[in-house]
Amino acid sequence: MGIMLKEITKCYKIGEETVAALAGISLTIETGEFVAIMGPSGSGKSTMMNILGCLDRPSSGSYLLADQEVATMNDDELAKTRNKRIGFVFQNFNLLSRVSAWENVALPLVYARVAEKERLNRAAAILDSVGLSARKQHMPNELSGGQRQRVAIARALINDPSIIMADEPTGNLDSRSSVDIMRIFGNLNEQGKTIILVTHEPDIAQYAKRVITVRDGLILSDEIKEQSAC
Ligand code: ADP
Ligand code: ADP
Repeated sequence: MGIMLKEITKCYKIGEETVAALAGISLTIETGEFVAIMGPSGSGKSTMMNILGCLDRPSSGSYLLADQEVATMNDDELAKTRNKRIGFVFQNFNLLSRVSAWENVALPLVYARVAEKERLNRAAAILDSVGLSARKQHMPNELSGGQRQRVAIARALINDPSIIMADEPTGNLDSRSSVDIMRIFGNLNEQGKTIILVTHEPDIAQYAKRVITVRDGLILSDEIKEQSAC
């Protein structure tokens, strides 16, 4: 169930000018890898994440996800592929503020039409697995940043995706909570999940087993590490 990008470009037109956010990226990520994507602001990380995460299509090139061509999918196929295979974790947690941790985690199952009892059972089990069973009933504003991010990770896991994509997941956390969150990603990776992490912090990228650096829409370096910090 790997990922294979071939000569991916993404161009944006701003007035008369065309900006190549991605200028021809070729990349293979095998199932079960833990990859960090690094690079300065404007280098193309978000654009790459949007394409890898099936949130957007490239301008040209081929993207095979689990042997399926994503680059030419229509919006429905793209959404189906995304919901089935990928869980997302964001810098700002993106939790609904008016419902409990438990309901936040169960919510994706509403769209998947799972019955309420099963939704809540599954959400409870996943919150337990990230160490938050005692906080299930809390609202997001009653939780610390690290706890909120654990709720977001639980939500990302609820449909049992094989790939987790995390965009600056520790950007709003203190260093201790950051370590906790990176350890959770490490554990998930050990359980076989593919983890793709965007970060500009070298300390955070250390937790990955492979570090890809992008610059001006191109891959500048791609290094597999002998030992990760996990
Ligand atoms: P990041 O903090 O991830 O580097 P950016 O500021 O690069 O975020 O981009 C935030 C969002 O705005 C992204 O979804 C990106 O696609 C979009 N964006 C970035 N640059 C432009 C631009 N020049 N015009 C319109 N949208 C942009
Ligand atoms: P990063 O996440 O590394 O900051 P982005 O992928 O957001 O980089 O942006 C890469 C380049 O593409 C930047 O020059 C940015 O301004 C441009 N860009 C990104 N998204 C858009 C957009 N929606 N419209 C126009 N330009 C964009």
